[in-house]
Amino acid sequence: MTPPIPVAARRMLIGGELRDALDGSTLDALAPATGALLGTVPAGGPADVDAAVGAAAAAYPAWRAAGPLPRAAAVEALAAAVAGHAEELARLDAADNGRLLTEMRRDVTSAVAALRYFAGLALQLRGETVPSPGGELTWTTRIPFGVVGRIVPFNHPLMFAAAKIAAPLVAGNCVVLKPSEHTSLSALRLGELARDVLPAGVLNVVTGLGTTVGDALAAHPAVRRLAFTGSVATGRAVQRRAAETGVKTVTVELGGKNPLLVFPDADLDEAVAAAVRGMNFTWQGQSCGSLSRVVVHESVHDEFVERLVARVAALRPGLPEDTGADTGAIVNRSQLEKVLGHVRIGVEDGARLRTGGERVGDEGLADGLFVRPAVFTDVEAGSRLAQEEIFGPVLAVLRFGTEAEAIEIANGVSYGLTASVFTRDLGTAHRVAEQVDAGYVWINEVSRHLPGAPYGGVKDSGVGREEDFEELLSYTQTKTVHVRFGS
Ligand code: NAD
Repeated sequence: MTPPIPVAARRMLIGGELRDALDGSTLDALAPATGALLGTVPAGGPADVDAAVGAAAAAYPAWRAAGPLPRAAAVEALAAAVAGHAEELARLDAADNGRLLTEMRRDVTSAVAALRYFAGLALQLRGETVPSPGGELTWTTRIPFGVVGRIVPFNHPLMFAAAKIAAPLVAGNCVVLKPSEHTSLSALRLGELARDVLPAGVLNVVTGLGTTVGDALAAHPAVRRLAFTGSVATGRAVQRRAAETGVKTVTVELGGKNPLLVFPDADLDEAVAAAVRGMNFTWQGQSCGSLSRVVVHESVHDEFVERLVARVAALRPGLPEDTGADTGAIVNRSQLEKVLGHVRIGVEDGARLRTGGERVGDEGLADGLFVRPAVFTDVEAGSRLAQEEIFGPVLAVLRFGTEAEAIEIANGVSYGLTASVFTRDLGTAHRVAEQVDAGYVWINEVSRHLPGAPYGGVKDSGVGREEDFEELLSYTQTKTVHVRFGS
């Protein structure tokens, strides 16, 4: 696939300037669908992070003092710039990430919506007055942290880069954004666009390895607020590193091993379609919210599996620009090996591989990183296939007898991000929604994110909520002021 615009050597945004890494290092940007070299991105280091944090700290007083409406207007202008370059950004992401272009277009639309949503909330950053005795007044205000570090993963490159800076910026913070080293192109392009609409230093984009740039950002003493989206292991490393250099506020949006529970009274056609959709096979399963465990009542299990396997086997992988394709590529070689490794583990552990699970070696896709969507049945609840996030197109089907057993299986993992329940019975739906360990539960639905509806996990899936008003507030701290003016 030909990249839409020259991407040969993108540069970082630091203090309003486009820069290479201070030591000149670069990383290759490879197209997962073809293996083509798209260009290079700067491989920043701790000195680049320090420069970016310094630029953000320098820009902070004026950005904070500007007040909510000018900040909202600037974020609106960024939304307009992203919308004006939507096709270019979607094509960059499709090339860099390997997902289908149709999906990446949706990602850009979501990013624009998020920027506008938070800009629209700017005037809601209110404090409160506190009932006080006569001659006294007590009130609270919401103050920004200063410099916010924002680390994002590879699976929605532009969407996360743009959407996740909106709340901290609107709240009056300056941001250092660190995209994934596997998909940095669109974030760097976003930096170029932001340069025209945001004051210098308000947004900085630093690229490079997570263990270098991400680590330096988490450990930087001047970064008092960090927000991380990625895997559990890295999220814990960020929490740890942050704590080593200061008392900081850290929110983490992490992985999931999310259950979809199918009760005997469910509409089976709908449930099967939802299982395919909920696994996000179109993104090769590379989504935190993917419903990667389908837990089916024993009375409908066999019929459900038969229909599910037929549908999944019919999914066709294709290049990102192939509008008829159903699934895209895996983001990089190590992720591909991880997926294939889990398929092997599943077979060794005695689960039945019903379809897929092998690398695609034909259909003109042999140079890319494609895996045929896999469905396993007869999966033991305690097995690695049922316990570990694979972040690939591998669906595990388990069976249950009683409602209590379904809940036990659903909650028997360390994660708790999303869950879905398919039933026609209101009582079952409410009981399960109440008892399942998850931050976001769908009933007779999957995958939907509604703007303004809090998203985030419990247990190892995270700390904090995003995509809602709570996210905006999380980038502020409360200050109480008490005045005695006499009566
Ligand atoms: P990852 O944890 O490997 O990397 C995420 C980011 O952290 C990248 O920018 C990376 O460079 C950086 N990083 C790596 N090591 C670091 C370190 N030591 N210190 C600081 N930063 C470091 O995750 P990934 O493979 O890019 O993304 C997949 C994971 O993200 C999955 O577990 C998925 O479930 C999760 N995810 C969660 C959500 C959510 O909202 N809960 C959304 C999307 C993805």
